[in-house]
Formats: sequence, structure tokens, C-alpha cells
Amino acid sequence: MDLSNRVAIVTGSGRGIGRAIALKLAEVGATVVVNDIGEASPVDSVAEEIKATGGQSLAVLADVSKSQDVARLVETTVSTFGKVDILVNNAGITRDQLIMRMSDEEWDKVLSVNLRSVFLCTRAVVRHMIRQRWGRIISIASIVGLVGNPGQANYAAAKAGIIGFTRTIAKEVAARGITANAIAPGFIDTEMTQRLEEDWKQQLKKQIPLGYLGSPGDVAEAVAFLASEEARYITGQVLSVDGGMAGAWL
Ligand code: NAP
Repeated sequence: MDLSNRVAIVTGSGRGIGRAIALKLAEVGATVVVNDIGEASPVDSVAEEIKATGGQSLAVLADVSKSQDVARLVETTVSTFGKVDILVNNAGITRDQLIMRMSDEEWDKVLSVNLRSVFLCTRAVVRHMIRQRWGRIISIASIVGLVGNPGQANYAAAKAGIIGFTRTIAKEVAARGITANAIAPGFIDTEMTQRLEEDWKQQLKKQIPLGYLGSPGDVAEAVAFLASEEARYITGQVLSVDGGMAGAWL
């Protein structure tokens, strides 16, 4: 895999899976724009880590659920590096609650950060990708969008939405040399899953045929492949990176 001369935006890449994706894409040669919403330090440190190994990187703080922030993220990328070739829609949050108790705010916030962001970022980059007749859009969905999970109606709806969105976009832009795929991670060891209660984690672990949690790097490897030239004939797909977990239900 060689992503030299490719420019990538990875949303939500100050930590967790996004950070691993940013570092992996840089390792195989891409220039990487690192983004998240919070304090500057995590994104700056990821960008510095990439530069320290000889790569090119830029940190941009932006809330990807907001149209103006997304426009600034993409414009900054294009004005700094001249183009955008790869978009990884990774930013995501959870606000878990059983349906009877789920508030309007919990529903709206999760749909906004996990799904609206994918629409906003994809719309903003596609214009540039169409012009150059090459692009890769890779969105991080979830096993929960495929099989559901109690307490996560908002998150499952957003992740299932990403899958429908991806299949549609793949058809819309195929003729322009752009592919769109989703990845459905299972149970990956990040701050998002570290917050789960220990006995729930143990129960989930028993449902993974491979018997252990995935690492952020496992997801990053799949992203790098889908972003590569070698994956040019793969589009509109959902790739599970889940130790066999979804297969047990589907
Ligand atoms: P994480 O450790 O909680 O990291 C989430 C990242 O998203 C952080 O960098 C966060 O920034 C950023 N973010 C949150 N809201 C944002 C916004 N509005 N705009 C820009 N960035 C924002 O999560 P993770 O476990 O790495 O998950 C990454 C993706 O994989 C998510 O889409 C998640 O749903 C998906 N996923 C995870 C798992 C898992 O087991 N971990 C499984 C399936 C799917 P701040 O640090 O500034 O808040």
C-alpha cells in the first residue's frame, strides 16, 4: 500500500480509532489532516507525531456536526495541501439510554455528531474529488448499526443511517472514480468502550468468536486498504472488523 501524494482528512482523530487511522495513513505516505472538537493538545500531538516521522500533517479543531466548521475544515485542507483525496468519517459519540427514557437532546446529539457529520463532510469533499476524478470516502459505522443493541437506539439509527448513506453515495459518484465504503467495528478497546461496566464488558467479550477485543490499529489497517489503489474495485460495501461478532447474529 502506498498513499504517497494523497491528502486525507480523518475526523475525530485526536484519540482512539481516529488517531490510529491518522497514524496508519501517514505511515503509508499520506498527508493527514487531524481533527477533533475539544482541546487543541490531542490533535496537535497527533500531528506532531506524524511530522516527527517525516510526514506532513495539520491539526484543525472543528465540530463536524456544524456546516460552517466543516466548510472551514475542508477549505483549510485544500488551501494548505492543494486537494483532498481521502475522507475518513470517524468522529462519533454515544449517549446511551433505554428508549422510554431517551431525551430529545440525546437522540438529536447522537444523530447530529454520528450521521449529520457524515453528510456534511462527504458533501464538502465530493466537489473536489469529482474535479480530480479520484476519491475515497470511508465511514466508520458499527456492528450496532447492523444488529442493534439495547440502550443504543440513537446510536444504532445513526450507524445504520451511515450504511444506507454509503451505499447511495457509492452509486452516485462511482462514475467519477470515487469509492465509498463503511467499516463496522465490533468491540474495540478505546475510551468509548472503557466507559462500559466491567460485567457488561465480560459478557460482550464472550460473544466475540476470536475471544478478544479489537485494537484501534485493527480498524486502521482496514481503512488504509480501502483508501488504497488496490481497493479501487470495492465500493458500497460494509466491512466488519469485529472478531467474527456480527457473523454470530446475521
Ligand atoms: P473515542 O475514543 O470516544 O473518540 C472519538 C473522537 O471523536 C474524539 O477524538 C472526539 O474528540 C471526536 N469527536 C467527538 N465529537 C466530535 C465532533 N462533533 N466533531 C469532531 N470530532 C468529534 O471513540 P472511538 O472508540 O475511537 O470511536 C471512533 C469511531 O468508531 C466512532 O464513530 C465510533 O462510533 C466508532 N466505533 C467505535 C467502536 C468501539 O468499540 N470503540 C465500535 C464501533 C464503532 P474529543 O476528544 O475532542 O471529544
